[in-house]
Amino acid sequence: ATPTAIMVATGKGASQGVLIKGGNALEKAHKVNTVVFDKTGTLTVGKPEVVSAILFSRISMEEFCNTTIAVEANSEHPIAKAIVQHAKNRLPNHKAENTNGSVVEDFEVHPGAGVGCKVGAKTVLVGNKRLMRSFNVPIGHEVENYFTDNERLARTCVLVAIDGKVVGAVAVTDPVKPEAARVVSYLQSMKIRSIMVTGDNWSTANAIAAEIGIENVFAETDPLGKADKIKELQTKGMIVAMVGDGINDSPALVAANVGMAIGAGTDVAIEAADVVLIKSNLEDVITAIDLSKKTISRIR
Ligand code: ADP
Ligand code: MG
Repeated sequence: ATPTAIMVATGKGASQGVLIKGGNALEKAHKVNTVVFDKTGTLTVGKPEVVSAILFSRISMEEFCNTTIAVEANSEHPIAKAIVQHAKNRLPNHKAENTNGSVVEDFEVHPGAGVGCKVGAKTVLVGNKRLMRSFNVPIGHEVENYFTDNERLARTCVLVAIDGKVVGAVAVTDPVKPEAARVVSYLQSMKIRSIMVTGDNWSTANAIAAEIGIENVFAETDPLGKADKIKELQTKGMIVAMVGDGINDSPALVAANVGMAIGAGTDVAIEAADVVLIKSNLEDVITAIDLSKKTISRIR
């Protein structure tokens, strides 16, 4: 396309809330035949809420909440924010930064799995089963049952372990965006396949995908695994757009033929992407592809 055509299209996109960084993305987007969507914060609203909590050992709800807050207050993850909010509401006397005098040290993020740190003398882990497995924390039947019950309902379970032992769990729910199913079926009518990749577990991912009408799901992938999945699709000849919002999506956004970041997403994702969907509305995936198609066809 000519520089003028690109400038016109870029301006038109911007006025519709679709920020296209440079002509390259615009020239590639019309060839896209596969859209890979991240789940949390992309297909879902990204404002999870805690809907249940359970204790598996002799720990008071107060200690459970205080310990969990101490860890999750350091995390940027939407699940962490939901857990902190909920735990504070359960503790009417909880003050900000109240860790009952315990010092929080050695905070670590395990991308796509959870977080961990020291709270006083205790070693605490908060995250999914994969996180627990990688630290050799055993997962008992009671825990497995809690997961099965909640994941069937498209909820995500988060475990809390203290000193190598699971002490409790919470379940969070994150509703799908109202336009998600419509966008997937519209893409299908354009002969564009939709795929979900997520760091979340298979059961929850499948339940969410079924709600939206996505048939191809890849779950329990870490950030580099998401990028590998994109590369694998490309070697099969697919031209891939990746839509994501998180730090964990940035390698995949870079690997894709066209990376599209959700406007409400993290700065890292926005920087890694070729296109930014300012309104955070999935309809704009179609707006971007359409804009590219119109620009290119006008040239020919
Ligand atoms: P997605 O790919 O769907 O955006 P992420 O890769 O961000 O999901 O996270 C994958 C999973 O890792 C979450 O579903 C959750 O189980 C776990 N996780 C990540 N960060 C945290 C955290 N701060 N607290 C609890 N769980 C976490
Ligand atoms: Mg996400």
